[in-house]
Amino acid sequence: MDILSGLEQVILYGVLVLNAMLAVFVYRHNHKSATNIIFVFLSLTISLWLAMIRESGIPRTPDLVLNYTRLTVFLAVPQSVLFFLLAHTLPSEVILLRKKTRVLLLIATVLMMGFTLTPYVFKEVQIIGEHVKSVPGAGIPLFALFTCSFSIAAIYVLIKKIKRSKGNAKQQLSYMMRGIISMLGLIITTIMLPIILFQNQSFLPLSPLYALVFLGMTAYAIVKFQLFDLKTIATEVFTSALWIVLLAKAIVNESRVGTVIDLLAFLVAVGVGIFLIRSVRQEVRQREQLQKLTIELARANEQLKALDKARVEFISIASHQLRTPPSTIKWYTASLLGGDFGPISTKVRAALKRMQGTNNSMIALIDDLLNASRIERGKMEFLFESVNLLGLVRSTIDDLVPQAEDKNLSLVFIEPKTKIPNITADKQKIRQVVNNFIDNAIKYTKQGKITVELYTNKEEMIFKVTDAGKGIDLLQLHAIFDKYNRGRDSVTHATGLGLGLYVAKVIVEQHKGKIWAESTGLDKGSTFYFSLPLKSDLKSSGFWDLTEKKIKV
Ligand code: ADP
Repeated sequence: MDILSGLEQVILYGVLVLNAMLAVFVYRHNHKSATNIIFVFLSLTISLWLAMIRESGIPRTPDLVLNYTRLTVFLAVPQSVLFFLLAHTLPSEVILLRKKTRVLLLIATVLMMGFTLTPYVFKEVQIIGEHVKSVPGAGIPLFALFTCSFSIAAIYVLIKKIKRSKGNAKQQLSYMMRGIISMLGLIITTIMLPIILFQNQSFLPLSPLYALVFLGMTAYAIVKFQLFDLKTIATEVFTSALWIVLLAKAIVNESRVGTVIDLLAFLVAVGVGIFLIRSVRQEVRQREQLQKLTIELARANEQLKALDKARVEFISIASHQLRTPPSTIKWYTASLLGGDFGPISTKVRAALKRMQGTNNSMIALIDDLLNASRIERGKMEFLFESVNLLGLVRSTIDDLVPQAEDKNLSLVFIEPKTKIPNITADKQKIRQVVNNFIDNAIKYTKQGKITVELYTNKEEMIFKVTDAGKGIDLLQLHAIFDKYNRGRDSVTHATGLGLGLYVAKVIVEQHKGKIWAESTGLDKGSTFYFSLPLKSDLKSSGFWDLTEKKIKV
């Protein structure tokens, strides 16, 4: 055996072993995935094919050589089909061809494989000295057409998929493509060109290595993106290497005591190794599960966000529609009470007043909904102007007196002792807050007095409403301004959505003011406050958008 043929043998066997290892590695990685299974078959077919190529080049009896030559073409058929299948499937876990197509493909492959074994593809083999010459038959173009079509189709499919895919899938496909390009590049530059230009065949023995380049890159593409498992494999390789070394040491040890000690060491290593592999596998599984959960959580979060958006939009649309009828009722009631439709009896007036009160509550409720949805969408706008808070408070009290009288409550306004200056505020919005405080005091008080105060200190103007009502549980006090927060027994006291104070808080804070509540406990009454700065830099004609926090003039 000359050096060259020795080298050829070493390369071939080395590649066969490495191919087998790659196949096992990829299979163990995910034996349920179609991509991995096709890879395993392709790798085995390539290995057998390489071995057959070598065997067919060795001069032996013509019959034997003919058989090896036929086996080479026989294996080239499934090889090209598997190559196409891999390109078509990667990175999917299932074959993406229809059942009918799969059956047709199988039949065509089997028929073509059978055909390669007939004299139509290779007629005979002539052995001239050291050289083996195979004589092709008339059917060889059909074989060439079959294998070339599948190889070209594979590359075509791959290019098309790379263009269409994104993210990890794109990278995986690109790795496989790079594997093919590297293999073809090496074949063309080191084998085909030297043969064509210089009749030099010295690189021919390297060809198995080129197949390994392709298989290696494709295996990497498959495995790398199936995550984490590399850690398990590294642990397994390391542990088995250790076992082999220890066992070999035990076998070659010449002293009996030495062998026993080595065997014991080997057994300990096996035990520890198994434990190690198991714990690494478990860790990997947990990480995979965690990753899966994270992805699911992110997806659920997205869905929740979409649902929340739909909810906010629905509330906004619905409340807009709901607001029109009570507004019309409000307008007509005011006209009736004002005598626009002629004189009315005391009885009718009383009924109309009641109607007005209930209708106002309904309007306030819808406004709360509208405002809350505006806040959620970041669309609440503020129109700041110079406002006389005293006038505003007086007129709101006037509106609410009938409601208080209805419940036999006395609603008292303690007039300020000092002059109340104008401040910069959004008049409508502050009216809502004032209305909400007094309205709540009436709602949550069964009997007694409600006192309303307005006063200033050096820097702020303070509005205060004190009632003798149901009071606030001390544990609830901190959450009273939260969205949809209603006291546990609020349902029995009055209708509401738990939005009024939440909206009030946002409004006051957008005015750079403060809002808070005090109560000594349940049934001990409560006091609600808000304060606004006497001097503020709020632009007097700016619209504030809560999302952008900037002025739209
Ligand atoms: P709603 O009145 O529609 O429930 P609010 O946001 O105005 O919504 O009030 C939230 C909760 O705060 C009420 O459900 C109630 O439990 C409590 N609350 C508000 N004002 C008073 C008050 N004056 N006295 C006692 N509890 C109150």
